This record gives sequence, structure tokens and C-alpha cells, in this order.
Amino acid sequence: MSSEIVIGIDLGGTHVRAGAFTSNGEMLAVQETPIEAARGPEPGLRRIQNLIEAIWNASGAKMLLGIGVGSTGPIDPIHGMINNPFTLPGWENVPISAWLRNAFDVPVALENDADVAALGEYWRGAGQSIQRLYAVTVGTGVGTALILDGQIYRGMDGLHPEGGHVILDPSGPPCYCGAHGCWESLCAGPAIARQARQADLHHSILLEMAGGDVEKIDARLVAEAARLGDPPACAIIDKTAHYFSLGIINVIHSITPEMIVLGGGVMKSADLFLPHLSKAIAAHSIMIPAHRVRIAPAQLGNYAGLYGAAYTIWSTIK
Ligand SMILES: [Zn+2]
Repeated sequence: MSSEIVIGIDLGGTHVRAGAFTSNGEMLAVQETPIEAARGPEPGLRRIQNLIEAIWNASGAKMLLGIGVGSTGPIDPIHGMINNPFTLPGWENVPISAWLRNAFDVPVALENDADVAALGEYWRGAGQSIQRLYAVTVGTGVGTALILDGQIYRGMDGLHPEGGHVILDPSGPPCYCGAHGCWESLCAGPAIARQARQADLHHSILLEMAGGDVEKIDARLVAEAARLGDPPACAIIDKTAHYFSLGIINVIHSITPEMIVLGGGVMKSADLFLPHLSKAIAAHSIMIPAHRVRIAPAQLGNYAGLYGAAYTIWSTIK
């Protein structure tokens, strides 16, 4: 039993998850609870505080050395503030780091969720000891992160760059970011589901798979149907894979990392996207040897953010 732990928190729009980690990255305990964000920041912060106490108890550790929080953004990592009325309604200028520091009297770090997921893969996942590691998380959105020499790359004022909103097709669908045809609006789970709901499904198994309710079609069902050779589903996956590949090619040309890790719910079907991606990389290897950039599936699944959040503290202690 380890006597010292760091707790990593993964705060999403619907749930908050916590894990207790030793210095060598062993996860001793993990729990999650609904965040009920709409009830406001204060009840939410109390829930997080209770969750931390529960996970500390469950770990059996004597000492809590710090708390790392990965949160759905926008956030301000320098001042430890969450400012996200988009997926955490009412959470504007919430000083989560100061709150947790007061409650537990330990160092607290706050980072963007895509950044900590990438950092987790660097610490204990697919990207261990990779000097320039880029991560693309495709789920309800498209999150991107760059880990340089084991550190989160930051833009001005500590800002998290939003690679998921680079524009791939100006004639594409509108996004809440104000652009048309950004990576997220073309490739995230809701984009895949939307295309399927709008498609002519007369000769498709999708409707039957969704129990006859077009609203129940989601990205996972589209991937399953494509695997069975369903023509509309295959067409949607092909189109998505085309745009996804453009996004990756742009990353390779802009950053030229040693590795790009692919994570998130949609990338559980990465096998459907990789053939397109390989072809695109082969076709765009003129300016740089793009084929030498390793494309790897994420290894830590839903826990990547917990690992990375804990590492934000452990990396300052070791
Ligand atoms: Zn966008």
C-alpha cells in the first residue's frame, strides 16, 4: 500500500471522475459521479470535494500530495479558473484551484481536458518518452494537444490552442465556434450522427439498428453499420475519414511530431479511418517524410485524463 498519492480529476459536462495515483503511475482507486452542472458551481465544487475525500479513503493512502484537474474548456490554467458556460452552464469564472487548495491545503493544478489526456498518454500510455507528441481526441468534439518534452504546449496567456476548429472545408456545416467546416463540425460524433439522420435511409440497416427511431442513430451505430457494408453508413464514414485525414495532414505539416495519438469514442472505430489516413499520408509526403510520423491508438481509454491530471502534480514533485 502506497502512503502517498496524487488525485487526478476529470471534469466533463455530465460527470466528474477521480483517480488516486502513486508516483509510478499506479491507479489505486477510481470513482465517478454526475456533476449536475446546471445546479451551479458551488454544489458542483462540493461534489468534487466529496469525491476527492471518498477516493482518498478508498486508496488507503495516508498523504495526499496534490490534486490535478483536467476540465472541459475554456479554462484559465494560470489562475486556476473555469470559465465554461458552454458545457458547464453557469460556471463562469469559477476559482476551482483556490477552492480545492483551501479545502485540502495541497497544490492544485488546472488544465484543459485534451491536454491532460495527451499528458496521460505521455506518462503511462502510447506516447511514453515521445519528445513531440500530438494527440487528437474525437468524441463529442475534436480536442487536440501538443506535449513537448513532457510539457503541455501553451499559447499566449497560457491559452490552449483549439486545433479542432481549424477549417478544413469553408463550404462545410456551421460550428458554434463561428466557422463553417472546421475539423470538429466535420468529424466529431455528432457530425457523423447528423449526416446519418439526414441521409436517405430507405436501403440502409441503420434505422432498424436504431429501433426505427432516427434520433437514436449515433456515431457508434454508423460505424457498426459501415462494418457490415451498409452503403449510406460506408459513404458517411468515407467522407468523415477524408476530412479526418486532411486534419491529420495539416498537423503533420504544421508540427511534424514523432507521434500522433488518436483517442476518444469515435476513434474506437479507428480501424475504419486508418486506410484512408495511410493513403493520404503517402500522398502528402513530398515536403516532409510524413510516413515516418507514427499514428498510434490511445492506450488509456477513458482514464487518460485522470493519469494526465495526476501527472501535472507528480511531474513537479519528482
Ligand atoms: Zn468549430
